[in-house]
Amino acid sequence: MTPVDRPRIASRAVFIDRDGVIFRNRDDYIKNWAEVELLPGAVDAIVRLSQAGLRVVLLTNQSAIGRRIVSRQVVEDIHHRLGQIVVAAGGRIDAVLMCPHHPAAHCRCRKPQPGLLFEAETQMGIHLASSWLVGDQPSDIDAAVAAGCFPILVRPLNGSAAGDDLPIACPVFESLSGAAEFVLIASRRQTAALEASAP
Ligand SMILES: [Mg+2]
Ligand SMILES: [Zn+2]
Repeated sequence: MTPVDRPRIASRAVFIDRDGVIFRNRDDYIKNWAEVELLPGAVDAIVRLSQAGLRVVLLTNQSAIGRRIVSRQVVEDIHHRLGQIVVAAGGRIDAVLMCPHHPAAHCRCRKPQPGLLFEAETQMGIHLASSWLVGDQPSDIDAAVAAGCFPILVRPLNGSAAGDDLPIACPVFESLSGAAEFVLIASRRQTAALEASAP
């Protein structure tokens, strides 16, 4: 393997949106741990991704902080507890990237803006073009496209027409489990291709 390939294999991430992918969505925002409902299979999916050597990065818009509906401390506590559950199951959340701003702030970190993804590139050394982003909203897909990540949509198929509102065609799965299987297969192929291209 060439010197450039090994870092590239090691610097792949799966960016995972929180609400609607790991936690069940609430119309009135998740305001405390008691309101957290883990979606079926989500923790196992994170464990499988992280055990495969991919970096797992939570990527979440939490405008409830900017709207003063919930404090940053409470949101960080929720992420800490989620991290502990994942660790207890044998996996790891490597980083949490969060936009806490009100949409009216027009920041660069609120999806669909790709600001946090570029932060992951510069601060964590993530190779964006070899990474995936799993989300449940068109804004997630837009952010992935803007940063050059591979987008994947999670959406219950009994909901609105799957994917009709998306900027580009992308794989759609009913849960993070399905999306994780897709990423695992794709990452194994990517690893094999990188190794095969080495002199
Ligand atoms: Mg979401
Ligand atoms: Zn922001």
